[in-house]
Amino acid sequence: MSIQWYPGHMTRARRAIAESMPIQDVIIEVLDARMPRSSENPVVAELRGQKPCIKVLNKSDLADPAVTRAWLRHLEAEPPAAPDGATPGGKVLALALSATQSSEARTRIPELCKRLAPQRSGPGRVVRAMIVGIPNVGKSTIINVLMERKVAKVGDEPAVTKSQQLVTLKSGIVLSDNPGILWPKIGDEAASYRLAVGGAIPDTAIDYESVALFAARYFLKRYPERLVERYKLKELPATALELITEIGRRRGCLRSGGAVDLHKASDLLVHDFRAGRLGRISLEAPPAPADSA
Ligand code: GDP
Repeated sequence: MSIQWYPGHMTRARRAIAESMPIQDVIIEVLDARMPRSSENPVVAELRGQKPCIKVLNKSDLADPAVTRAWLRHLEAEPPAAPDGATPGGKVLALALSATQSSEARTRIPELCKRLAPQRSGPGRVVRAMIVGIPNVGKSTIINVLMERKVAKVGDEPAVTKSQQLVTLKSGIVLSDNPGILWPKIGDEAASYRLAVGGAIPDTAIDYESVALFAARYFLKRYPERLVERYKLKELPATALELITEIGRRRGCLRSGGAVDLHKASDLLVHDFRAGRLGRISLEAPPAPADSA
């Protein structure tokens, strides 16, 4: 899958994050709960070095709850990242959130920040924290919840073009009001497909039908009953292409002449997933405990 990226933005974003890193006590890395590994950017581990980190699995309202629980255990138990091979990374705490559904972030994030930086919490002290992550994982939504802002600009514009303002929250956390945006790591093809299925890669940058085929193959294997229920299938199609064709047929995604419009049917499947209409689905699970030992 070929994807067009903007290396200029990426370099500037990385520099902006690297520059503000020294003043931070805790890094809040926002991930997509449906794909915590694919939505990570290794640059975060590299730039944060020894700093403790909260891994927020956001959009957990859309993810499979059992898989999210397994991820939380896995991320907290994982040996700390050692990007340079010598220094182990700082401590990690993981938290599942649903920033659009609940304001839990407002209490839970400061609580974890204080646990990770006990030397900075106490009367007259503040914990300095920075939110980082790839586009579309919910960074701005979380910042708005933390800052109790009602009107919110939620979007993907690189924050590096705006000036960073430090805001002291009631909870004693000092937060920069713009998140550090990093582009998703590209390289692992399956991870790129997951990001595309979830909407973290712009639809214009991807071959939509191959993304839907990836999703269809995965759903057939892991969540077949959801497909049967959603699309009222009489029997489960044997292949991803047959599934998309059947969805197109059942939902009237037809070209003139009656052939199934695969692009429209692909769009339907991907958007049903993104909106949670297939139920709560995770696109990847952590390695089994035996593998990660
Ligand atoms: P950012 O690019 O990381 O700042 O992400 P945004 O905060 O702009 O959110 C991207 C999209 O995800 C928006 O449409 C949000 O409404 C949506 N979103 C954010 N958090 C959640 C969540 O917890 N659950 C769901 N279902 N959607 C969310």
